Amino acid sequence: MNTAIVVGGGIGGLSAALGLERAGWRVTVLERAEQFRPVGAGLMLAPNAVRALNWLGLAEELRSLDAAQGATGIRTASGKWLLRGEVPEVVRRFGVPGYMLHRADAHAMLIGALRHTNLCTGHQVTEVEPETGTVTFQRPTGETATLSAELIVAADGISSPTRAQLFPDHPGPVYAGYLTWRGVVPAEAAADIEVGRSLVESWGRSQRFGIMPLTGGRVYWYATLSAPPNSHAHADIETVARLFRDWHEPIPRLIAATPLKSLLRHDIYSLETPLPRYASDRVILLGDAAHAMTPDLGQGAAQALEDAATLNALATTESTVESVIADYDLARRGRTQQLAQASAAAGRVAQWRNPLTVAFRNSLVWLTPRSAYLNSLRDTFSWTPESTARDTAAPDRSEVGI
Ligand SMILES: Cc1cc2nc3c(=O)[nH]c(=O)nc-3n(C[C@H](O)[C@H](O)[C@H](O)COP(=O)(O)OP(=O)(O)OC[C@H]3O[C@@H](n4cnc5c(N)ncnc54)[C@H](O)[C@@H]3O)c2cc1C
Repeated sequence: MNTAIVVGGGIGGLSAALGLERAGWRVTVLERAEQFRPVGAGLMLAPNAVRALNWLGLAEELRSLDAAQGATGIRTASGKWLLRGEVPEVVRRFGVPGYMLHRADAHAMLIGALRHTNLCTGHQVTEVEPETGTVTFQRPTGETATLSAELIVAADGISSPTRAQLFPDHPGPVYAGYLTWRGVVPAEAAADIEVGRSLVESWGRSQRFGIMPLTGGRVYWYATLSAPPNSHAHADIETVARLFRDWHEPIPRLIAATPLKSLLRHDIYSLETPLPRYASDRVILLGDAAHAMTPDLGQGAAQALEDAATLNALATTESTVESVIADYDLARRGRTQQLAQASAAAGRVAQWRNPLTVAFRNSLVWLTPRSAYLNSLRDTFSWTPESTARDTAAPDRSEVGI
């Protein structure tokens, strides 16, 4: 039986563990947090993320959730639609629905699906030895121990210590120029606020507001603001309410109905300099550790799920661990790095501040035919695990300058 150690128990690590477990591997997950307590609020699962989860065997669990429906798209701060699509059209085009769920529910779904994986919380990895596949970690007792496996999956997030160890010259994550606040309105408070059943994002000048209904009647929202890093560190819900008070309904009502304890604030970072490779000897990087991207295309977790489904496909079909590692790098690097770039570019445009460029941007979006918009989603949403092994368009190492 092949063996793997997964460093990190976020969406990437848990889905990788599931993929390897289902390929018949013996898997250990080492997560530094004492409990699986996902930080975050809502999560959009785009059609490609849904296909990855289906591939990992979670189709039935997803079917039991309410899928997105109704109108989706982009509005102005005053509420005018710039781009309006209908979810059934997206489903018809891409063959699977999208879902919007609480991050905690996504974690619970993945943990619930694991049968044989050894899940170790409170285990902080301190060193990874790529040549031998040995991981050194601290147990919750403080005692140091080691463990070896044929494959190490580093899914230790955007600040990945493993990435820093493997690529000491890489500059690491870079601030994207804006921060986000996120909140969840409980079902009782959201009951008389009309929000529809799908994701709608409204654009202003260096500010955006997204609304995403979650399962169980809750409503998740996110707000963005261009600002220097670490600014508004102590801002509370009143600050967010003030920033968005003139925006269209139901934005001010949703902010007013948000319990303070659900408010999250994060500076947005991404890996602007792509990694030269996602594999080093027995280690592969997966999820944000490999390709942390801005949330502007809603693809960060989706790409981690694609990584995991790809790993499952390769672990099932490849004859050696070495070929799993090499083909994983080949299959995942080009696509994820291209999406990371596209996401950062989309975020820059969406955060524009100058009134003239904002008016120009809004006119362009308004003039975009719906069919062109749907076509632009094709490469991202149409991904299947079968196609990924053919997708070997990774940039040559010399092109990325590391
Ligand atoms: C504001 C915002 C909104 C987003 N919205 C969406 C969305 O709608 N849809 C979408 O697809 N994506 C979205 N994303 C992106 C998505 O959240 C991430 O891409 C995804 O969560 C990454 O998962 P991961 O498992 O790779 O990393 P993480 O979730 O960061 O998990 C890493 C894990 O590794 C553990 N760890 C770290 N170091 C160690 C160590 N030394 N030893 C042991 N464990 C360790 C950490 O404790 C953590 O549990 C959003 C991101 C942001 C910031």
